[in-house]
Amino acid sequence: MITTAGFGNRRRNTAQRLVARSDAKGKGAAAMDKNPPINHLATGESSGTQMKAIIAGGGIGGTTAAICLAQSGWQVEVLEQAPRIEEIGAGVQISPNGARILQGIGVMPHLKDRLFEPPAIEMRIGATGRKVFSIPMKKAARRRWGAPYFQIHRADLLDGLHRTLAETGQAKVQVNARVEGYETQGAKSVAIMADGSAHECDLLVGADGLHSTIRAAMTGPDAPRYTGNAAWRAVLPASELGPLAPPLSGCIWTGPGKHAVTTRIRGGDLVNFVGVVEVPASDAEGWSIEGDRQQALADFGGWSEMFTQIITRAPRLYRWALFDRAPLPRWSDGTTVLLGDAAHPMLPMMAQGAVQAIEDGYVLARELEREGGDIAAACRAYFSARIDRTSKVQSVSAANARLFHRRGAISQLATYGPMWLAGKIAPRALLARNDWLYGARFDQPAKTPHARSDAL
Ligand SMILES: Cc1cc2nc3c(=O)[nH]c(=O)nc-3n(C[C@H](O)[C@H](O)[C@H](O)COP(=O)(O)OP(=O)(O)OC[C@H]3O[C@@H](n4cnc5c(N)ncnc54)[C@H](O)[C@@H]3O)c2cc1C
Repeated sequence: MITTAGFGNRRRNTAQRLVARSDAKGKGAAAMDKNPPINHLATGESSGTQMKAIIAGGGIGGTTAAICLAQSGWQVEVLEQAPRIEEIGAGVQISPNGARILQGIGVMPHLKDRLFEPPAIEMRIGATGRKVFSIPMKKAARRRWGAPYFQIHRADLLDGLHRTLAETGQAKVQVNARVEGYETQGAKSVAIMADGSAHECDLLVGADGLHSTIRAAMTGPDAPRYTGNAAWRAVLPASELGPLAPPLSGCIWTGPGKHAVTTRIRGGDLVNFVGVVEVPASDAEGWSIEGDRQQALADFGGWSEMFTQIITRAPRLYRWALFDRAPLPRWSDGTTVLLGDAAHPMLPMMAQGAVQAIEDGYVLARELEREGGDIAAACRAYFSARIDRTSKVQSVSAANARLFHRRGAISQLATYGPMWLAGKIAPRALLARNDWLYGARFDQPAKTPHARSDAL
């Protein structure tokens, strides 16, 4: 059960609302839409005049932060560079640590008809289909971590987030609004726009992704690190594949120097495919660069007819290189602060980049409530609460890439043999390995103002 001990007592805060909603909901998907109405309270109104936050970037991280701040009483403006709020055609996995926050801030009613909860998570050998392990997930996630593990189309998730944001009545979203940098003026931040205009605010959140301009202005220009991996991505109807559709379980397919992940989205109707291959030189990077089908077939077609059919029948196939960055020494400068990929881009091998961005938004709002008006101090406390956890997820993601890509029979046997055995004799031990990640609760007080994230 989520506790709220010792964390703010003036009014109900973010964490307490989260608990109230969890309590009101009880367990189970049917109860997810029984959230009580959103309350406006706390820091954003504490000085008598409403505080204003500007969020640069209307992606998953920025929109979650916008919801949390708006629900805390902030007046919020989201500035998005794209002409429309839209996501790429791809799926995303949301683990219970992210789902619990989405439940708490009232997003789940907008997602429940479009998400898919996989019955299990499996690892298989790509070339043979042989199972390394299969751990039950649908019921186990709710029972063990108190929230669902789900897969969803990114467009459906973003739509649900923006609907929730609109319900707060506290937010304005502006498209075609590219932020180029920022300035600090006394206790205020000023977002500098591409058209030369300037927007003053009490808090400026850089949620503008891997190539963040806010980050560049804060820490100096630096190029993201190419990780030596490129990803193929495709979405297609499961009905197109007939009996060759991948299993309903979320499945990691391992192989020498590459791996693939197959999941279901849109209630299970669509198959989402990600195939990651090691490639020596930096490739063209971006969400929407169409790839060469023959090259994808050369990478994965030899594994099985299922992969050949996915690649052949997918209406579009995208490819882009994967980048990350080393952890930063700070995420804020006065009242300007980073979150999500702008702060800690990571490889996708833990399926955590978006989930960590969701956690960021929630914890930032929590720290703003706890610090009661000292915004710069709250931004520093947020960094202290988050840096160990996000750095760990970054490094485990990189380690997973090596684990999934084992070369040679001996190395594969030494790695997958013990996993196979654990899956057979102690599947719960495999679940327990994820407790630190999926079981984290952000409503509890940090032990010290700069407590390590593993104390959460
Ligand atoms: C192959 C792959 C699979 C993945 N799978 C998963 C998964 O299963 N689960 C998971 O949790 N994560 C996954 N991720 C990671 C996840 O996609 C990212 O970590 C997540 O999208 C980061 O969200 P964000 O809001 O920080 O940044 P972004 O999603 O990049 O959003 C940034 C937003 O800011 C806007 N923007 C950019 N610059 C500016 C500017 N200057 N001014 C104004 N607006 C601007 C952009 O248009 C965009 O809307 C995966 C990543 C990859 C590559």
